Formats: sequence, structure tokens, C-alpha cells
Amino acid sequence: MSTMNTINTINTINTIKRIYLDISQTASGDGLTIPIFEIIPNNVSEDLYKIPHVYIQSSVHGSELQGNAVIYELINLLNKIHSGGCGCGCSCSCSCSCSCSCNCRFTFVPLANPHAINQKFHGHTVGRFNLQTGENFNRTYIDINNLDLNLPSFIENNSNQPWENIKINFKKLLLQKLTEYRDHLIGSKGISYQQRLNIELQILASSADVVLDLHTAAQGMRYIYAPEYCYKNAFHFNFPLTIIIPNKFAGAMDEATFTPWYNLHQNLTNKIEFEAYTLEHGSEEIIDFNAAKIDALNILNYLHFKKFLNLNPNLDLDLDLDHSNRAYASLKDYQSNYSPSSGLIDFIKKPGDIVKEGEVIAKILNFKNDINNLTSDVVAKNDLILVNHPSSANIAAGMELFKSIENYKFINGDNK
Ligand SMILES: [Zn+2]
Repeated sequence: MSTMNTINTINTINTIKRIYLDISQTASGDGLTIPIFEIIPNNVSEDLYKIPHVYIQSSVHGSELQGNAVIYELINLLNKIHSGGCGCGCSCSCSCSCSCSCNCRFTFVPLANPHAINQKFHGHTVGRFNLQTGENFNRTYIDINNLDLNLPSFIENNSNQPWENIKINFKKLLLQKLTEYRDHLIGSKGISYQQRLNIELQILASSADVVLDLHTAAQGMRYIYAPEYCYKNAFHFNFPLTIIIPNKFAGAMDEATFTPWYNLHQNLTNKIEFEAYTLEHGSEEIIDFNAAKIDALNILNYLHFKKFLNLNPNLDLDLDLDHSNRAYASLKDYQSNYSPSSGLIDFIKKPGDIVKEGEVIAKILNFKNDINNLTSDVVAKNDLILVNHPSSANIAAGMELFKSIENYKFINGDNK
């Protein structure tokens, strides 16, 4: 496989480079590629490993589109920040006194799964599962911890190094092991589309300090999956709900990238710097640029907290976003609720609504019910947050009706 490069210089402050990475081919022989946008401050002439690296991908689930609009808005905002003058860690000669700076490298991978985004069926994108194999596209990443990282040996060999060097050497080890494993698969029994996609995305993210995987629900609120070791930092994304996941590998991109660092730090004394999150940006099959602008600002707000960039208050970045009632909870309290009967559903409560015990969540219309009462109510059995529900109002008994969070807490410290 080969890569094709197109380089566009946007302004004198930074350079944005677009690369197409070949992933596969259609049966007729046309290439399936993923677009990769790299934003690197122009002043960086040294080793790229020495500046922070933010990696953001979207649409690994092909019907989950909003993350692509978020990446578009992030590219716009970063260009605005860079062209706003001064800062950026650069030696530009503008004389303004703003404090904006951004001296980190960004890798954006929108439309990260060309096979999934092209799985169309009667107008709908069927993008969550591989129709050939039935596999979930976000559950088959490689567990790098099984690729003979030999952490005791790595730590011993780096024991006299400063942390900045250890960090760089570990990133290079991750890249080496992933590349070797990919080449081993290609050279032995061949590599499946999904293996190739997953490994190539992990290779692109192997030098990152922050990895963000942008998804959506079917019909959902905005929420974020955050590993237990750094979940409080996720509050800086300003999302209304944070779901805390274990510090373990279970097949998803965020876990695939944070578990090697988590395991490394079990043998070190310093705090884990690396962070990875899965962000759920509302509902599938839609693009909303106004919402994407807010989503992008929330990501910049988090990166500002991480000190990867410094936002100039004079820039028109409205970070004073209202998210009263922001909540968090453990993954074990994020549960499916199944429909008690078949019928046609009208959701009275919407994703993001805080529901009290006894309140009506949905009405189900079933024409075989008592003729005087063709509808029945689905009532909340406990206090909960309605997180998401299917796109179709046609639900059979026993199908998932909605997902909810119980036992949540508010970030401001108040219990529900
Ligand atoms: Zn998804």
C-alpha cells in the first residue's frame, strides 16, 4: 500500500498538511483511503516528539457523523488562533499583546472508516458493525499490552533518563511494536480490513499525548467515557455527563491507547500524563455546525486546561458555556432498559432529561391493547438520566428501549 500527499500552506503561522492513507480497495480496484490532517507549528524544526501531540478521529462508526463537523470546526478555530498573531511559541513579529499560544501538533482523522461510511442500506448508514463479519468496529483494536512490551526491561533501560526522554522512548516502542505486528500479519496469513484499519489508527495515535475518539449514540445526549484514573479532568470538556470506565482494555480505541501508559505508570512514581476519551456527540446521521462549534470549543477548553494551548481571552471563543446539572457516574450504572411490550414509541422524556421515579418516560401504542386504552406508559422505576434511545419508534417487546444512568452525582458536589 502507498500513501499520497497533498500539502497546503494555510498561513505563515502554521502549516496544515493533508495526507491520504490507503486502507483497502473496493472490489473494482478503487482505493479506500482515510484523510489525515496534520497541523504543526511552523517554528518547530526540532524532533516532533518533543512537542505535545493531540490525536482526534471520527466516524469509526460510519453513521456517527457529527465528529467530522467537530474536526472541521477545530481546524477553523486553530487557524483562527494561529492567525490571531503572537504566541504559538513562534517568533512571529506581530506586535499585539494577546496571550494566545499553541505549540502542539494536531493529527485529525475524519471519516476514519471508509468501509463503514459507505455501508448504506435504503438511505441509512449501517456503520456500527462490519456487515461482512458482524464485528463492532470499535471493539477490535489490538491490545498492545500483549505485544511483548517487556515493561520491566524498558524501565530498567531508561532508569537514568529524565521523564521527557522516557516518554519519547515509550512512544517509539509503541510505534515499533504496532508496526512489527501489522507487518507480521501481512506477511503470514494476511490481514483483514478491520485489523488493518484498527492497527493503522493505533499507529497514527502512538505518538499522541491525548487521544479523542469522536462518536454519537443513535439518539443521544452529549456524554463522555473517561478512564477512572483521570475522569475528573474530563469535566473540562463541559459535557453534561461523564461515565467512568475501568482502567482496562476491552477493545475500544480509548482503552487501546491509554492502557499501555496506565500499565507503564504502575512501575513509575510520576502521575500519568497521557489521557484518552471517547466523546459522544449527540445523535447519529446528522451534521449540526452550530453544535459542532460548541463541541470544538469544549475540546479547546480541555486542551487549555492541559496547558497544550493557551487561549487568548480577546479571541471570540465563548467558553462561558452553561452546563448546570453536569453529572458523572460509573459504567456499572449505565444500563439498558428493555421494552415491556411491542408497539410504536413516543418518547415523552428526551436524551439528557433528568427523570424522577414515577415519571412517564414514553408512551407505547399497541393496537392489540384494550380498545379503550390502546396506549401504555413506561414509567421510571428509579431516578435516572435518559442517555440515549434507538432511532426507530418501532420497538418489539424485549428490544432495548433506552439506556439510562442511575446513581449519578453532580460535579458541583450536590447529590441528585
Ligand atoms: Zn460509536
